[in-house]
Amino acid sequence: MRHRIAVVGGGPAGLTFARVLHRHGHHATVLERDPARDARPPGGTLDLHEGLGQLALDKAGLLAEFQAMARPEGQAMRILDSDGTVLRDWQPRPGERANPEIDRGHLRDLLLGDLDVQWGRGVTRVVPGHRDGVLVHFEDGRQEAFDLVVGADGAWSRVRAAVSPVTPHYTGVTFVETSLDDVDTRHPDLARLVGDGSVAVYGVNRAVVAQRNSGGHVKVYAQFRAPLDPPSAPDPTPDLGPAPSDAEAVLAGLLALFDGWADPVLDLLRRGTAFVRRPLHVLPVGHTWTHTRGVTLLGDAAHLMPPLGAGANLAMLEGAELAEAIAASPDPAELDAAVRAFEEHSWARAARWAELTAAGLERLVSPNPADALALFDNLQPH
Ligand SMILES: Cc1cc2nc3c(=O)[nH]c(=O)nc-3n(C[C@H](O)[C@H](O)[C@H](O)COP(=O)(O)OP(=O)(O)OC[C@H]3O[C@@H](n4cnc5c(N)ncnc54)[C@H](O)[C@@H]3O)c2cc1C
Repeated sequence: MRHRIAVVGGGPAGLTFARVLHRHGHHATVLERDPARDARPPGGTLDLHEGLGQLALDKAGLLAEFQAMARPEGQAMRILDSDGTVLRDWQPRPGERANPEIDRGHLRDLLLGDLDVQWGRGVTRVVPGHRDGVLVHFEDGRQEAFDLVVGADGAWSRVRAAVSPVTPHYTGVTFVETSLDDVDTRHPDLARLVGDGSVAVYGVNRAVVAQRNSGGHVKVYAQFRAPLDPPSAPDPTPDLGPAPSDAEAVLAGLLALFDGWADPVLDLLRRGTAFVRRPLHVLPVGHTWTHTRGVTLLGDAAHLMPPLGAGANLAMLEGAELAEAIAASPDPAELDAAVRAFEEHSWARAARWAELTAAGLERLVSPNPADALALFDNLQPH
């Protein structure tokens, strides 16, 4: 007998889950709120680690395709002082494949392949324990029953409430994101500053980080400690950011915040196009939930953590591992035990990463910029 499985969310977690399940001959219904695959900009670049995101792609049979499209040169990293002095300049060794970069949109397309995603199917609520199984309620008022509902619906998950009362809290750090297009032609000075990978500048409780994406696109993140703005409840649509008309005011605020920093660094902000505010929220380190038959969580829905290169990696590996566990348990009686074992395994790993990334954020946006440098000195190969 086939399990009726739904995965809510077509991000890295949900798509990897569906792909690996599909590879093992099983089907999952992918329910995605976005009305179409290109409904919104896919976001910046992701580095996929050998033992995490790349392992997940291997399990999906997509590692070779990933390697063909990934940017190993994106592992280059330069750190500047706020006066523009180059403090560190790491280049990847030839053949270095530990953490190559890939654009989020390219990763999405790779994972999507010919998967059959149901677009425009925003989920509002998931209710386990119904006689037909787990009931999924949709924004259009419809509902559908499944044997297993996998919540891969990100930071502001609607599925999470079925298993856990916990919601994300603000870290005290906000990113403001902007972008530069066609950088090699239009901003060759900044193209040289960013290089093939990233450039980062750390100051007192603030930083500017710029990362090259493919196609001459650069994402720039101004990072700083600030009260939540607006100070009310967390924003459930954090991608919206300020309206474009606010761009001038946002830029003026940033230039005041980074007053006295070297001109080339400030130019990364001055020449940016739209500005998007991203107050960083996290779930508590070690977030778990009472195991609930028929519902589980993956990725940010389970363990939202600071964006320090682990979130998508874990999301993908969890998706792949849960799919493999389900594929190995074709008997309906085994499904629940497989999900329970998966949860216990992934909770322990996620807790370790949540702790590491929480400590990392404290050091990267810190009163002492030397903390950030020391963190990278420990991480980079010598
Ligand atoms: C600036 C920044 C840089 C980052 N850099 C890295 C990096 O280099 N490496 C790394 O590993 N991680 C990185 N991360 C973290 C990474 O983006 C996330 O951890 C990852 O995207 C989580 O994947 P996910 O599939 O769990 O959730 P998401 O990517 O958030 O996907 C969730 C999906 O669910 C859909 N959805 C949401 N609600 C509903 C609903 N109610 N019904 C139906 N569908 C819904 C959404 O539309 C979305 O498609 C970064 C994060 C940020 C903010």
